[in-house]
Amino acid sequence: MREYDLLVDGETLSRSETATVRDPSSNQPVASIALADESDVASAVAAADSAFEEWRTVDPVTRGHHLRDVADELRARKTEIAERHTEETGRSLSDSARSVEYAAEYFEYYAGLTHRITGETVPLSHEEFDYTRREPLGVTGHIIPWNSPLLLGSRSIAPALACGNTVVAKPAQLAPMAVHELGRAASDAGLPDGVLNIVSGRGSTAGEALVTNDRISELTFTGSKAVGLHIRESVSDRLIPLNLELGGKSPNIVFADADQEAAAEGAVKLFNNAGQSCYAGTRLFVADGIYDEFIDRVVSRVEAMNVQRDPNETDVSALISPSAQSEVASYVDSAREAGGSISAGGRIPFEEGNFYEPTVIEDVPDDAAVSCEEIFGPVLTVYRFDSEREVVERANDTEYGLYAGVWTSDLDRANRIADHLEAGTVTVNNYASPIPQVPFPAYKQSGIGSEYATAALHHYTKVKNVRMSVDRTLR
Ligand code: NAP
Ligand code: MG
Repeated sequence: MREYDLLVDGETLSRSETATVRDPSSNQPVASIALADESDVASAVAAADSAFEEWRTVDPVTRGHHLRDVADELRARKTEIAERHTEETGRSLSDSARSVEYAAEYFEYYAGLTHRITGETVPLSHEEFDYTRREPLGVTGHIIPWNSPLLLGSRSIAPALACGNTVVAKPAQLAPMAVHELGRAASDAGLPDGVLNIVSGRGSTAGEALVTNDRISELTFTGSKAVGLHIRESVSDRLIPLNLELGGKSPNIVFADADQEAAAEGAVKLFNNAGQSCYAGTRLFVADGIYDEFIDRVVSRVEAMNVQRDPNETDVSALISPSAQSEVASYVDSAREAGGSISAGGRIPFEEGNFYEPTVIEDVPDDAAVSCEEIFGPVLTVYRFDSEREVVERANDTEYGLYAGVWTSDLDRANRIADHLEAGTVTVNNYASPIPQVPFPAYKQSGIGSEYATAALHHYTKVKNVRMSVDRTLR
């Protein structure tokens, strides 16, 4: 069993209260994690608050060097961190190694932008001079989920640090190791003490303590809509910026003129990470004219997927926990009751671990639970459509609005559909994953605030305006 302590002010703190992390592929214990209580979180915030005084004055180029050093350290430890990531998430080692690489890319991307956090000059009368500057906010709080812990932690921690803020991060109990590894890598890379603090713990104690701490100046939460709404209530008596990155129920729309091979590949991307991805294309809409042919392509791909106990051999990894597995199973049962037909999968393949077969469901009504609620598992529901107008209406008939896919060889149509879809991102003829350099906005109940790209630099800074009188008369 590995052990992980809290990271507060550059010190590792062991705690008598610990939680056990289990490997989703076997449910065997792999690590013991220190649990932070309210006073530990208060200490972490206080440390981040003192570290801010110095960190905010570090010049942008040096700040960039620090972030680049973190990226280098992550890459140097790629194998080791990927092993921990695989043990806690059940994803393959190659998938985990890609997560480490993506995490490094976030640090590198924002390292290159520290000197681009600029203000502007505003032309006023001859007697005045006005300029703005972007200043850091202070201590930022980051609450991280388990589904892609290292990548999702890095995507907010890197821009927060780049802007001159300090960080207190709370990873999910189910998968805290990779985030702790990031903390260790950052310390060893020379990030000053207190700039990045990691307080693993329960959402109901450490999470609540972070959210309600009145010394934090910003909060970034990635997770479920229910907890996101609760957090918004909790901070409602303070005017701090909030980033809520919540759920999705994304439509993936295939028109009759699409490249069917490419679209079928795009459709089965849902099964990456066993469907535990916020932007996954969970609702597949297929044009009536090609429906049968296209579904055959999808189903044959899904039937070729092998579910195996070994995370490096399986085509679909284990779900995070036994309760996630039974939740997926009950969603599929509810689809059967709603008249759905199971075209592939639909079972728990074996006892060991939290696996579920990749599943394709047809003929469920648009208002069935599987059509409306986020399943967060390897379940694709498929719908037949006739017209552009109809499919746009049905695709938009969801509380979420994170991502969408459109497949067509008619670019005019692609742009029309993109114009009408209520989603933060519309992909055309690919179902590409989010990357640091493009925005990842959320519509509707999928969130507020902004991560990624230069939008994050605006989120993690506030504008100060300086307006002064000038005397331009030569003497
Ligand atoms: P979750 O239950 O909301 O938990 C997310 C984090 O919040 C965990 O660290 C959790 O701690 C913590 N937490 C729970 N209750 C809290 C409270 N009262 N106060 C403060 N923190 C609290 O979400 P999840 O089930 O882990 O993650 C799946 C969800 O995340 C899905 O809905 C998915 O779509 C969404 N997601 C969204 C994005 C995006 O970018 N939009 C990305 C990934 C995932 P513990 O679990 O340790 O108790
Ligand atoms: Mg949860």
